Amino acid sequence: MTSIWDHANPQLRDLVVYEPGKPIEETARELDVDPNAIIKLASNENPLGPSPKALDAMRDALENAQLYPDGGGFYLRNALAAKLDFAPENIILGNGSNEIIEFLGHAFFNRDDEVITSEHAFIAYKLIAILFGARTIETPSPDYRHNLDTMLDAITPKTKMIFIANPNNPTGTLLAQDKIDNFMARVPENIVTIFDEAYFELLNDPPDALRYVREGRNIVVLRTFSKIHGLASLRVGYGIASRDLIDVLQKTRQPFNVNGIAQAGALAALTDRAYQRKTKEVVDAGRAYLEEQFRDMQLGFVPGAANFVMVNVRDGAAVFKKLLAHKIIVRPLKGYNLPEWVRISVGTMEQNKKCIAALKEVLS
Ligand SMILES: *Cc1c(COP(=O)(O)O)cnc(C)c1O
Repeated sequence: MTSIWDHANPQLRDLVVYEPGKPIEETARELDVDPNAIIKLASNENPLGPSPKALDAMRDALENAQLYPDGGGFYLRNALAAKLDFAPENIILGNGSNEIIEFLGHAFFNRDDEVITSEHAFIAYKLIAILFGARTIETPSPDYRHNLDTMLDAITPKTKMIFIANPNNPTGTLLAQDKIDNFMARVPENIVTIFDEAYFELLNDPPDALRYVREGRNIVVLRTFSKIHGLASLRVGYGIASRDLIDVLQKTRQPFNVNGIAQAGALAALTDRAYQRKTKEVVDAGRAYLEEQFRDMQLGFVPGAANFVMVNVRDGAAVFKKLLAHKIIVRPLKGYNLPEWVRISVGTMEQNKKCIAALKEVLS
């Protein structure tokens, strides 16, 4: 008997399925409890729920659900362009910023191309590289930071793309402007560099990678509505790059990749400055609280720049499981080769406190 796998693209055998944060509903079913009793601090979601302005806009947009969406995303791309001081032609919308990583694969990767990323970097880069048969070169990260010099040293004639998550998920570490400037001074022009800035709006001292788009360099900056805008379920992200690079990526995009409800919600969320400010306050206070508690508990942690903290609990899988029994979902990091660690997203202060209380019980 032959197997269908013998006919499928061989690289798919190596492709492990992306393991998302454990869903609330699944946990509630397994524990046989009300989903409302579950606290999910596993996917860096916004604990405030969606912006009220986005909710209103989405309710209105539902009335036109029989129509195909605007495939060009005219209003949303214009609003983003105006906000960032670019032209709409510098912006592409994705079904989440993760879809834009897939566009990059379609546009650039061939079998045996090399893609450079850091050890412990966001795993989506490696998964897309595998999907297209490219090889991922992961540079060492003993201090849980991207080492851009080591990443540059890993360049070979086969290198197509370099992925930099800033800040990185799950480590939370941020590269400052001088590191980015040194990197951009050295990276060859034929290589496309991706700066994944999913948490940009939450940063206290955000570095500026967009200046290199303005200079016409070969980079793509990725951002998303999944984090500060609290719209992860809608799947809206965007990329900012030169017109030529955006033209290339547009060729790989399905015509209606971002649905109309999502476009309306994202457009309204952009204008909700009060909600964004409130989110940042909640995140700043919650992250400070979690880090202070970890210090008190004498747990090793990596100080984070985004809405999560990575903490060393000695056996991440065991602590993840024991916290589930307390109806708290965190993220174990075995898939990132960090088996001693868990990543805890910042919740509301009430959720943070419950999580710390449960963690104390679990570890005692
Ligand atoms: C959360 C996150 C994203 C967001 O992905 P979407 O597809 O836009 O939801 C992208 N990159 C990193 C590093 C993230 O942590």
